[in-house]
Amino acid sequence: MAVDEEVILRGLPISSGVGIGFPVFLARAESTFGEAELPKKEIENEISRYRKALDSSRKDVENLKKISQQDGPPEVALILGTHLEIMQDPLITSEIENRIRKNQPTKRVLYDLIEECKQRFTTMRDHYFAERVRDIVDVSKRILGHLCPADRLNLAEMPHNSILIAQELVPSETVEASATLISAFVTAAGGLTSHAAIVARAKGIPYVANIDIKRLDKLEFHTIIVDGSQGIVVLNPTRQTLKKYQELKKNYSAERKILKTSAHLHGETIDGYEVRIFANLENPKEIDAVLKNGASGIGLFRSEYLFLSKRQFPTEEEQFEIYKKMVKSLRGGPLVIRVFDVGGDKRVDFLPEDKDAKYFRQIGVELNPALGCRAIRFLLRYPELLYSQLRAILRATRYGPIQILIPMISDISELQLVRQMLDKARRALVQEGVKIAKDVPVGCMIEVPSSAIMCDSIAEETDFFSIGTNDLIQYVLAADRSNFNTSELYSPIHPSIFRLIRMVVNAANRSGKPVIVCGESAADPLMIPILLGLGVREFSVAFRHIPLVKHTIRKWRILEACRLTEGAMEFSSALELKKFLVAETAR
Ligand code: PEP
Ligand code: MG
Repeated sequence: MAVDEEVILRGLPISSGVGIGFPVFLARAESTFGEAELPKKEIENEISRYRKALDSSRKDVENLKKISQQDGPPEVALILGTHLEIMQDPLITSEIENRIRKNQPTKRVLYDLIEECKQRFTTMRDHYFAERVRDIVDVSKRILGHLCPADRLNLAEMPHNSILIAQELVPSETVEASATLISAFVTAAGGLTSHAAIVARAKGIPYVANIDIKRLDKLEFHTIIVDGSQGIVVLNPTRQTLKKYQELKKNYSAERKILKTSAHLHGETIDGYEVRIFANLENPKEIDAVLKNGASGIGLFRSEYLFLSKRQFPTEEEQFEIYKKMVKSLRGGPLVIRVFDVGGDKRVDFLPEDKDAKYFRQIGVELNPALGCRAIRFLLRYPELLYSQLRAILRATRYGPIQILIPMISDISELQLVRQMLDKARRALVQEGVKIAKDVPVGCMIEVPSSAIMCDSIAEETDFFSIGTNDLIQYVLAADRSNFNTSELYSPIHPSIFRLIRMVVNAANRSGKPVIVCGESAADPLMIPILLGLGVREFSVAFRHIPLVKHTIRKWRILEACRLTEGAMEFSSALELKKFLVAETAR
């Protein structure tokens, strides 16, 4: 059907910026397996063909990795590193050869593997594992590309101003995509935290997901606009719309240029107030990227990812080596290690192997995991896990400034129990002759309403506060942080959130205890002046947001931020408050 009229579609904003161009549909060649069974005499030949394809894929990835290490976003090199690891995985090396030896052609074996992974993927709710499976699919596709070059898709050779429309993108495709040729991505499937999304953001390619691709396929249109910041796709834009988006695109490009130079600037307001910017981190391998982006240290190390990625709790020795290496590479910058925050949105959908399975079997399936046995509750139920983590952390303190952070404190007794256990671990280590730093600060995450309300009492016993707005918002507003249906409700811009943050910051300042904000709100340009106005001087954000946070902070004077905050505190409606902030922060 031909459309002349403008059509506006709404999807999920994944990578910001504006792309204007013409549509290119990525239809994939469906699998044709040829012979169902491999003749016996062909087996050795087939195996050597497979090994050759695997070898070429490895060379591809090594090459791409080298290029991105020299001149590219650090996220890309990391993802390619994972792909290289997968290519050494027995699943990819020996398992595939075993199946070929059972008379199956390689193409079939790889398609079967992709299907098996997809089956597992659809039942997985954990982002990390879902992404891991997606990487295996991706690597298999790359090998297939070498086996059957005709099926290969090369995003490095697209025409200029292409807007790629696909069911889904895999990271290897986005890695090869050239930002000078491809103006934007539009897909049906794909989430905010997928590797394809990370690469698109790192390369600055606008991306909108959750669009009904089948509907697009039926329409005929020549021009398409993708607004990756608002999640809007416009087909056949009118002249007026086109003009509006051309203007927006120009502004985005100017802003990106400024951001590139902001990473290493000092974090300070126009009137010279120092603001320290730290990074949130899940993967210790990303420390170099953290430093490159201008972080003063790690404000939140989500140590639970050590467990989630290996599917078993690391031993004390393994943890010690990791923490030691991390703090040494920070060259004097602080490392805040949050003890394992398992459960909730970081739910454990798998049953870990052997020694750790018992913890999850005992808890069983919880009806409401966000309100269940997660974070510090889980650790206090299984103190041996907390004890070995505290020992590992204490041992690493001799190599640099380390602080301990407790997630989801809902009662002061939880802090007291951790302190008791920390003393016990310290005494044991001293007896063993291990050197430990004298002062190891212990902080509380404020992410549950009860701890925000009780912040005055907590201030007497904690060494510092860390406000986790991601969880605080969901618990205060009763809006699940990962539920698409409540995404309209889930926002830091709500009078109740402002009041609670004010309470905590005031309690911290009165008692002289540092306070840091480490949820996503700390990277939100609407929230940054409010946090400054409330008295926050330490932020911890995903490292890729650091330049934006610095750039925003450097646009404000403290006095102006305080005035803005005073004005904001007058509102009782979230909607009105948002309107006010949008108008007052445009600068
Ligand atoms: C938070 O809740 O704001 C936070 C930083 O922790 P996480 O996102 O890991 O739950
Ligand atoms: Mg949290």
